[in-house]
Amino acid sequence: MTQKPLIKIIGSGISGLTTALCLLENGFQVRILTKQLYPKTVSSVAAAIWFPYAVEPKDQVNQWSFLTYQFLEKLAKEEGSGVSMIPFLVLSAPEREEDWLEGLPKEAVREANISELPEGYERGYWAQVPLADTSIYLPYLVWRISNLGGEIVQQTVDREELENNDLQLYINCTGLGAREIFTDEELKPMRGQVLKVTKGFPAISMVDSMHPGQLSYVIERKHDYVLGGTDYVNDDDENARAEDTKMIIERCQRLQPIPEQLSIKQVAVGLRPKRDRIRCEWDDELLNVVHNYGHGGAGYTVSWGCALHVLHLLTSK
Ligand SMILES: Cc1cc2nc3c(=O)[nH]c(=O)nc-3n(C[C@H](O)[C@H](O)[C@H](O)COP(=O)(O)OP(=O)(O)OC[C@H]3O[C@@H](n4cnc5c(N)ncnc54)[C@H](O)[C@@H]3O)c2cc1C
Repeated sequence: MTQKPLIKIIGSGISGLTTALCLLENGFQVRILTKQLYPKTVSSVAAAIWFPYAVEPKDQVNQWSFLTYQFLEKLAKEEGSGVSMIPFLVLSAPEREEDWLEGLPKEAVREANISELPEGYERGYWAQVPLADTSIYLPYLVWRISNLGGEIVQQTVDREELENNDLQLYINCTGLGAREIFTDEELKPMRGQVLKVTKGFPAISMVDSMHPGQLSYVIERKHDYVLGGTDYVNDDDENARAEDTKMIIERCQRLQPIPEQLSIKQVAVGLRPKRDRIRCEWDDELLNVVHNYGHGGAGYTVSWGCALHVLHLLTSK
């Protein structure tokens, strides 16, 4: 069998790592070049639940989310992957269209009874979805990549490198970093702040993502709860803000009884790479570059679907 070529993947967030693993499993050689590693990537901050939030275009996202669901569901059965399947209540409203339901297997979702909803809500869906504990899943992906002979090199890549190496194939998984290398004006930061809170009170994993500027969610992980969030577009302040912490707690308290006195282990901020549509395609000018970035608030949710699309782009040319 002839060996497939070496592919250089730029970035080691969820998109870069998943793409690397997918290509290695399909016989390619892979080297990741990355400015920052876990835990300094945006992907390290994420709540990392399967939910296609703030991401477009809907039809394609649903297909990629559906594929990802299947991969993550399988990984949830694997000891040490950091992926588990959890019940998640998605709050909705009568007459509201919920496109994301198309991205789920039919048997994974049911409409919630009114008695199961927080006060003031008239509709919701219980979905059984994958959740990745980032502190386990990201190192797990790195481990799988190394086992298959993939390399990770800490290095910043600039446009000159891409232009001067036109025989080398690159996959651009730089998230918001694509603003600099590809001067992409469609790509905007969407600032997310989350609180990681010590367990010790009962909580139900749920989200209300219906109103821009009022995103609220509680997610139960094995060792803590994640409380969120913020969704400020064009805000690239990476510092945690006390006023946001206060607002997040108040909004989550409207969803369920959460004590006034919380033991907050960490307040984390990440800039989601928001775009009108995910860019998962060949570059228009640089014939040696495939893009895989702009996943907004759903990098985990579409990770395997997008990685498989990159594989398809490489093998169908
Ligand atoms: C608070 C918060 C909560 C979230 N919750 C969820 C959730 O529950 N579910 C979900 O699906 N998604 C969620 N997201 C969204 C998800 O985190 C992002 O969509 C995802 O992290 C994007 O991954 P990425 O690999 O494309 O980018 P990143 O994680 O930003 O990785 C980009 C990589 O590229 C590298 N890089 C950049 N520029 C260069 C360069 N010039 N040269 C070399 N390397 C470079 C960086 O160092 C980094 O390694 C959340 C995001 C936030 C902020």
